[in-house]
Amino acid sequence: MKVVHVAFEAAPIYKVGGLGDVVGSLPKILLKEGIDTVVVLPKYGWIDHPDRLPGSQVPVIYIESPWFAKLNIRHDKKIQAPKFAAFALGTLEELKRQGIRPDIIHCHDWHTGLIPLLLKKQPDSYFEGTKTILTIHNIGYQGVFPCNYITGTGFEALVTCFGEKRRVSYLKEGMETADFLTTVSPTHAREMRHDSFGLRRSLRRRRGRFVGILNGIDYGVWNPRIDTRIYATYNRVSALTKKAENKTRLQKDLGLNVSPDIPLFGFVARLTSQKGLELLIPLLTEAPRKRIQVVILGSGDPKYENILKNLRKVIDRQWYAVEVKFDEELAHRIYAGSDFFLIPSIYEPCGLTQMIAMAYGSIPVVSAVGGLVDTVEDGKTGLVFREPTTAALATTIERASDLWEDKEAYSKMVNHAMRKDFSWKKSAREYARLYRRVIGT
Ligand code: ADP
Repeated sequence: MKVVHVAFEAAPIYKVGGLGDVVGSLPKILLKEGIDTVVVLPKYGWIDHPDRLPGSQVPVIYIESPWFAKLNIRHDKKIQAPKFAAFALGTLEELKRQGIRPDIIHCHDWHTGLIPLLLKKQPDSYFEGTKTILTIHNIGYQGVFPCNYITGTGFEALVTCFGEKRRVSYLKEGMETADFLTTVSPTHAREMRHDSFGLRRSLRRRRGRFVGILNGIDYGVWNPRIDTRIYATYNRVSALTKKAENKTRLQKDLGLNVSPDIPLFGFVARLTSQKGLELLIPLLTEAPRKRIQVVILGSGDPKYENILKNLRKVIDRQWYAVEVKFDEELAHRIYAGSDFFLIPSIYEPCGLTQMIAMAYGSIPVVSAVGGLVDTVEDGKTGLVFREPTTAALATTIERASDLWEDKEAYSKMVNHAMRKDFSWKKSAREYARLYRRVIGT
């Protein structure tokens, strides 16, 4: 069976969020499971282009286009629309040129939604036996553009696929034309039936062809025993002492009060409203009074970047650190050096950071949504709050502080969290089963 994964990111080649982690790891496990797997990425002008996914034999094919030459920092829609039109058309052309005839093209998110559309609306006998699966990693991002954004860009052929529409949603087109849809956790699949960001009807039409398969994490990358980016490696037995060492080094580097006794709460995320910043921000000024430290690493919405940076002027620096950037090394150090990890998301299709935090023995403090529900057990491997309010988050942070005071209970929870196995194996097998089902239909 030949499966081609198409996405705009795959770690470590290029990563901006969890999708990068997924496309950088799932194909490696599928290959080990005996599935002939290939990854297709845009050929960005500012990164290296290894011909295999690092640490594996999975071939990577890059799609060339002038649209991928420069970073589109502001996500300008006039650039995004033709860019991912070029990606869809380029992917199909390149597969054909290289003589690759996949059984499945596995598309990820709106950036690849035009691939199933093209195969349905402009059938090519070369891809006659090819089925498509579209995985929705985040339905909040749909790639909606006026159709005229791609007229005059050389991709007019595509516009005919859009029919009479004046605006087109790349995600919706993909959802309506892919042979099968998935999302990244069973709970989020259920949530999407009620709350699908305006795509309820499209989703309802695909009932019976839509499942949630939980993401995994790559323990070759996220593993405190072998992590070369953290200050001191550790395992379950040495976790508490070594985490204290990681914490004090992190505190020193970030200019915080250096003490192993202060509970440190980490937060690593894209800075968007989805990640629950509206709940968290009002609590930050309380950190010194509550005698907790908060370390934030993130970038994204300039509104949140500014609020978080400005809070530096208000909150004593010994208790609050914020780094507005994308920094892989610092992220690893925060997972290792934090005692608790804040994920107050408003919605979370799967979420990887809670699984990573658990692997590093940092107790996740999470809202009861999506994949967070499927991965964090309240009172056993983490702390879960139900109401999406600042008050509920505050109460749960109090619970965390109380837990910190009870060293025996805290260390038991760390132990349980670190025992959890979120490796890809189980989910990769579910995908393999799905591939067989889709090919057989
Ligand atoms: P999402 O896909 O919504 O961004 P996930 O929880 O699925 O959220 O995955 C986020 C991934 O991106 C994690 O690997 C996390 O460590 C990483 N990440 C997010 N922001 C940053 C940042 N500013 N610097 C480094 N890594 C980050």
